[in-house]
Amino acid sequence: MQLAGNSQSFHAASGEHLATHFQTNLETGLTAEDVANRYETYGRNELSVKPGKPAWLRFLLQFNQPLLYILLLAGAVKAFLGSWTNAAVIWGVTVINAIIGYVQEAKAEGAIASLAKAVTTETTVLRGGQMLRVQSQDLVPGDLVLLASGDKVPADLRLLKSRNLQVDESALTGESVPVEKAIAPLPIDTPLAERVNMAYAGSFVTFGQGTGLVVATAGATEVGQISQSMEQRVNLATPLTRKFAAFSRTLLYCILTLATLTFAIGLGQGESWEYMFEAAVALAVSAIPEGLPAVVTITLAIGVNRMARRNAIIRKLPAVEALGSATIICSDKTGTLTENQMTVQAIYAGVQTYRVSGSGYSPKGAIDLGDDLPETVETLADHLPDPLRECLVAGVLCNDSQLKQSGDYWTVVGDPTEGALLAAAAKADLHQTSMANLMPRLDSIPFESEYQYMATLHDACPRVVYVKGSVESILQRCAQAMTASGQLMPLDQSAVEQAVATMTAKGLRVLAFARKTVADHHHTLDHDDIQSDLVFLGLQGMIDPPRPEAIAAVHACQSAGIQVKMITGDHIATARAIAHRMGIQQSEQVVAFEGKQLVAMDDAQLAQAVTEGDVFARVAPAQKLRLVETLERKGNIVAMTGDGVNDAPALKQADIGIAMGKNGTEVAREAADMLLTDDNFASIEAAVEEGRTVYQNLRKAIAFLLPVNGGESMTILISALLARDLPILSLQVLWLNMINSLTMTVPLAFEPKSAGLMQQPPRNPSESLLTGKLLRRILAVSLFNWVLIFGIFEWAKTTTGDLAVARTMAIQALVAARIIYLLSISQLGLSLWRFLRRRSTTIPKAPILLAGIFGAVALQVAFSQWGLINTLFATAPLTWQQWLICLLPMLPMLPFAILVNWLDPR
Ligand code: ADP
Ligand code: MG
Repeated sequence: MQLAGNSQSFHAASGEHLATHFQTNLETGLTAEDVANRYETYGRNELSVKPGKPAWLRFLLQFNQPLLYILLLAGAVKAFLGSWTNAAVIWGVTVINAIIGYVQEAKAEGAIASLAKAVTTETTVLRGGQMLRVQSQDLVPGDLVLLASGDKVPADLRLLKSRNLQVDESALTGESVPVEKAIAPLPIDTPLAERVNMAYAGSFVTFGQGTGLVVATAGATEVGQISQSMEQRVNLATPLTRKFAAFSRTLLYCILTLATLTFAIGLGQGESWEYMFEAAVALAVSAIPEGLPAVVTITLAIGVNRMARRNAIIRKLPAVEALGSATIICSDKTGTLTENQMTVQAIYAGVQTYRVSGSGYSPKGAIDLGDDLPETVETLADHLPDPLRECLVAGVLCNDSQLKQSGDYWTVVGDPTEGALLAAAAKADLHQTSMANLMPRLDSIPFESEYQYMATLHDACPRVVYVKGSVESILQRCAQAMTASGQLMPLDQSAVEQAVATMTAKGLRVLAFARKTVADHHHTLDHDDIQSDLVFLGLQGMIDPPRPEAIAAVHACQSAGIQVKMITGDHIATARAIAHRMGIQQSEQVVAFEGKQLVAMDDAQLAQAVTEGDVFARVAPAQKLRLVETLERKGNIVAMTGDGVNDAPALKQADIGIAMGKNGTEVAREAADMLLTDDNFASIEAAVEEGRTVYQNLRKAIAFLLPVNGGESMTILISALLARDLPILSLQVLWLNMINSLTMTVPLAFEPKSAGLMQQPPRNPSESLLTGKLLRRILAVSLFNWVLIFGIFEWAKTTTGDLAVARTMAIQALVAARIIYLLSISQLGLSLWRFLRRRSTTIPKAPILLAGIFGAVALQVAFSQWGLINTLFATAPLTWQQWLICLLPMLPMLPFAILVNWLDPR
């Protein structure tokens, strides 16, 4: 079987021709057997991943850091001077650093890429006469694909049906205006961009619906032929890493200047130039925090992983940081803040209000008139008043969803709003299958947030159109209403509005229903057909309870200084009631605005409204963009959720665009920075928490790393200027900065969040990483380290007269004190402190931190006791008395660290 044929000519072929060519039944699609066979031949419908830069190049690029140039150069000079061991060790350390960097980078990229891959694209196909959701990768040529607005076109399709189908083909043609699609065959020489009866893989459906036949998959598609593979490399750069890069560059220049000055001054004072060179190199090396880039990457990668475990998948790394400083979260209502588990509780039809009992999607329950008029279910079900019956029927027929039973449990396949309507009708014995048989559907207009209604055309005598949608969208099209006896009368708008007000005040989501009879020649349905003259049937009000965990998350956000705003397409009163129940309000009253009010505002008024408002109701997707822009102009860091096609611009504009992993469209997902796998607001809050933790851990890493650099460079600078023996040699500095620092700092990236984290206001995004407080802390500890190194070295030198021993002791003492400082920074230290003061009875497990400390201790023992390292790093074995002396600085470090923590709490 060979189906591919001349892929260039499908646009010229007719439907029947294509059906024969692809051996597909255009009514029922391929059989399971066909699919299996073709899958064998054509393989998965996916583009191969571009191999990216070769591994050796990526490894070499690790050396492409200004800080490392100095080291490479220093090694070269040493080699030139004949100190080959020195040169080898310097180069060796830079290679180790590059290996660590390379492995970390690869791991981080791998983790992010695999998370992104876990989010698969699904598509709807017709196979064996049934509509199925399958993964896009499983499509084969000849499959019939159903497209709806928001879908990503999964393969190259020849369109066979189109209902106002519009496709954004910018990925392929660069043309950003969506193309209106058609189905008629085209002349064979039509250029690609004008083949309106084709939908190409990688483009997006922006409007309407359609059906297409898969004519090419994977590498045979047009995009596949252009690129044959997909760029899959993850960009690890974020604003923070860029800030770091800038910081390192500045640091580099300072250090170079300082080192050169020292060198010059020393020479001027008559020092030997070998001594001054060693001093200048040691100074440069000591001042550079070599381990920092690796720590930043690891911390970010760990943050991404933790977020994924809490149902937030990061698509773009900068979002991790932005989350930590978010000041406003704009969230959808339905499904994100609420359960999206709808149950109809009230029906208004023919001036009567009915009560509906029961819960969930089960047909158990009854419709009655309430307590004052005790009419039983049976009597109602036997002969339902006409408007009530019609209202329920409209809900059943104008419906694209189904209820499924598994045991006693009923679930909805499709839209929960529609599921609720099916369940309500089932309570009056009106069932979907029998109704659909009685009045088969001829055509439909699907629901779009933009229009706020859905309509279906049914075959009956006479033909009838059922419409359901928001109260506003329906009422304005109605002139008449159905009376209790089934007659028509002029519509009493105010009575309906009264009924709506009663329902929405209880937080019910209200849908309105209407019908219209049309002449028998109608086979299709258009927006124009239902512009006016509808007959109002009634209202159904459904409850969509807030998610309990979302209520808690809203409170958590508020105490963390983050405002939560609700943006919804729903009715203002419903939105207000739910907002009130969830505590989404800044003052006593929920402040709510409607989309149409916002439209009328100028920029200044809008700025005021977005600040004061808690709820924005009946907001059209296009308005979200203006809301985000206005909020951002006021200096906010905005997280915004979205799920529809038209949400994409707002998602891109927001600092953190959040799409729904379950219910969102592909378009929204593609535009988003983050996906929620459970569509739950609580996961946004969790991501914010993790984002803040990342930042906090980075600060910890800096607070831990830099003071050692500070202490070392002060020591070396002063010794060099005083022309004394250097307390640390450049190689030993490398040991401290790379080997010791990494073992002890990396565990900080795994630190859990601290207790008060969500009680603090958001970080000011323009605030530099090195705040005044942090700088003072670094300076203070640097001074401590300087005194320590200098003191121990000078003391050991005078007592033993052995430079190697004195240097070794100075370094061992520094690391010992460092362990205490590490504990003081970490959560482990804090809880040990609590434990010792009997505030808590448990010591938390911090396996990674402990492993880091033990690893560091083992390395330090080897540093002085292992002969090989003694030769390489010019160290000497210590006696146990000397070891004990090295441990002494831990004692003053303890109160000192507590004092520093008190001055710079974290
Ligand atoms: P949200 O999800 O923010 O509540 P939507 O944009 O989905 O808002 O819906 C807006 C309004 O459109 C709803 O308040 C409701 O009146 C109406 N609506 C929602 N779903 C449907 C549907 N499947 N069919 C008809 N009308 C609907
Ligand atoms: Mg919705």
